Amino acid sequence: MAKEVKQGNLSIHTENIFPIIKKWLYSEHDIFIRELVSNAIDALNKRKAIDPSVKNEELRVEVELDKKKKTIKVIDSGIGMTQEEIEKYINQIAFSGAEDFVEKFKDQQNNIIGHFGLGFYSSFMVSKKVTIDSLSMTEGSQPAFWECDGSTDYKISEGKRKKIGTTITMHLNDEAEEYLEEAKMKEILEKYCNFMPYPILLGKDVVNQQEALWNRKPKDVTEEEYKEFYKKVFHDWQDPLFQIHLNLDFPFNLKGILYFPKLKNEIELTRGLVKLYCNNVFVADNLKEFIPEFLTMLRGGIDVPDIPLNVSRSFLQNDKEVQKIKKYIIRKVADQFKETFTENRSKYEEYWEDVNQFVKYGVLTEEEFSESMVDYLIFKSSKGDYITVDQYLERNASEEKPKKIYYGISENTQVSLLNLIKEQGLEVIFCDSVLDTHLLQHIEMKKQDIRFVRIDSEINDTLIDNSKTEIVDADNKTESDKIKEEFAKALNNESVTIEPKHLKTDSIPGMVIFDEFMRRFTEMNALNQGLGGADMLKNHTLVINVENPTVKKVVELNEAGKTEDASVLAGYIHDLAMLEQKRFTGEELQSFIQKANKILTMI
Ligand code: ADP
Repeated sequence: MAKEVKQGNLSIHTENIFPIIKKWLYSEHDIFIRELVSNAIDALNKRKAIDPSVKNEELRVEVELDKKKKTIKVIDSGIGMTQEEIEKYINQIAFSGAEDFVEKFKDQQNNIIGHFGLGFYSSFMVSKKVTIDSLSMTEGSQPAFWECDGSTDYKISEGKRKKIGTTITMHLNDEAEEYLEEAKMKEILEKYCNFMPYPILLGKDVVNQQEALWNRKPKDVTEEEYKEFYKKVFHDWQDPLFQIHLNLDFPFNLKGILYFPKLKNEIELTRGLVKLYCNNVFVADNLKEFIPEFLTMLRGGIDVPDIPLNVSRSFLQNDKEVQKIKKYIIRKVADQFKETFTENRSKYEEYWEDVNQFVKYGVLTEEEFSESMVDYLIFKSSKGDYITVDQYLERNASEEKPKKIYYGISENTQVSLLNLIKEQGLEVIFCDSVLDTHLLQHIEMKKQDIRFVRIDSEINDTLIDNSKTEIVDADNKTESDKIKEEFAKALNNESVTIEPKHLKTDSIPGMVIFDEFMRRFTEMNALNQGLGGADMLKNHTLVINVENPTVKKVVELNEAGKTEDASVLAGYIHDLAMLEQKRFTGEELQSFIQKANKILTMI
C-alpha cells in the first residue's frame, strides 16, 4: 500500500458534527488539550500493559508549539495505530458516537464530548486541519497518516513516524492562535493534566506533577507529604490547618483530600478550591452538586472515576449517586471533627478560631451536618476555657425550665456587668460572630429545653442587692421614685422606660435592657435586609443603678436647681448604656461628644 492515498467519506450522519463541536463548545475550547493528552496517556497505558518491559523513560507525552507554522503537536510514545485502526477508531467509532451525541443533546448547551468518544474531534474546535501520524507497536506495522480539514472528507496514506507512537498535529485556525503562547498552554496543562500518570513535556520542561496523593492509602501518607502536596498544588506558602483524606471503594469509588486552610479568624473573600477529577483528569472546580456550599472554602481534590467526564449539570443534580457522594463528604467532615474533639480536645480548640465559621455555617445550612455537629459546637466561657452547651448545663445545674444559658459578646464588652455576673457565680459564654444569632436560635430548636439569654436582656435577681430598703421623705417619695422622676425629666423621651435598681455593684450607672426576643428579631432583620435594626431599639428600658455615685449626682444637681447640668449628665449615662447596644450615627455621636465636653467643664 506504499504511497497509496485513500480517500473516504466519514459518514452520512456526520455533516452535523463539526458545526456542533465548534458552536457548543465555544466557551470551553481549552478542553481539546485535555482530550488529546488523555488519549495519549491512554495509549501509553495500553503500551505498558501489553509490553511491561518498555522503559519508563520512553513513555511520555510532548506538546510542541510552533508559532511560525501555527501548529500544535501532541506527540506520544503510546500503543500507536495502524491504518486499519485509524479507520476503525477515528472514522467509524467516533462517528457512530457522533450520531448518538447529536440525537441526545440537540437542545443542550453542555460539554459532553468525551462522554461519547468524540474526544479526538474536539481538536477541530481550534483547527482548520488535523493530521495523525502513527506507528503501531504491532510488529511489522507501517506508519499511517490521516488528514482531515474539518469537512466530512478525510485522506489516509503512509506516514513518516519511525518510533512507536502517535503525533497529532493541529493546524490552528485564526481565532485559536492564543494557544501558541507557552504560558497559556502551561496553565491549561497544569489545570487539566496535573495528575496524569506519565510525564507531559512542554518544550523541555515536565509540566505535570503526576502523582495525586489521594490515590494512596491514608496510612501510606505522612503528615509532611500532605503539607508539601498542599503547598505545591495550591501555591500556598502556609501549611494547611489539617486535612481529611477520603478513601472509599464501596458503595462508590471516591478518593480525595480536603484541606482546611488557615483563615486568620474570618471567612476570607477568596473562595476555596475543590477540584473534581475523573481518573486523574480534571473535570471542574467547586461543583456544588458534590461539595456542599459550606465546604467550598476548602481546598483539595476529589477523584470520582465512575462519573462520566463532561457530564451535564442537570444530570449531576438528579443523580442519586452524586447525592450519596455529597452526603458521604459531609459525614466524613463531621466525623473528622468529632474524632478530634474526642481524642485531642486541645487541638480541636486550637483549630476552632479558624474553623468555627465553616462549622457554624455548615450547621445552619446542612441538616445532616447539624445533626452530627450540634453537640460539638464550643463556646469561649467566662471561666476561660471552651465549652459545649452540655458542659455549660452540667456546670450550671439548675431546676428552671427552660434552662438559661447566659451569653455575652466578648470578654471586653459590658465589662462591669460581666464582672458583676461572674462575681455572683454565673457563667457566661461569648458569641461574637454574625452567624451566632442564627446559630443560638438553631440550637434552641434542636434542644427544646434550653434558652439563650444575653446578659443585658434582663436583670437577673442575683444581681440585685435586696438588703437595701428605702425610706420615704417628706414628699412621700423614695430615692428610687426621685431618680425615676429626675431621669424622666432630664431625658424627656417617652419611649424610654426608667427602672431604678440597687445593683450589687456601684460601678455601673445605667444599663439598657433589651428584651432577648426583640433583640434577635432586630438582629436577624439587620442581617437579612442589611438594615440597621436601630429603630427597634427606640423603645427600651433603662435600668438606673441607685448605688452609683454619678446617678446620685444627677439627683443632687437637680435639687440644687442645676437642671440643665442634671439633664446633660443623665443623657450621658443613657448614651453610655446605648453604646453597648449599637453603633452610633454621626448625629448621635456628635451629641454624645457635646455632652462629654460639657461634663468636663462641670468638674
Ligand atoms: P475516546 O478516547 O473517548 O474513545 P476519541 O475520539 O478521543 O474517543 O478516540 C477514539 C479512539 O481512537 C480511542 O479510543 C483510541 O482507540 C484511538 N486513539 C485516539 N488517540 C490515540 C492515540 N494518541 N494513540 C492511540 N490511539 C488513539
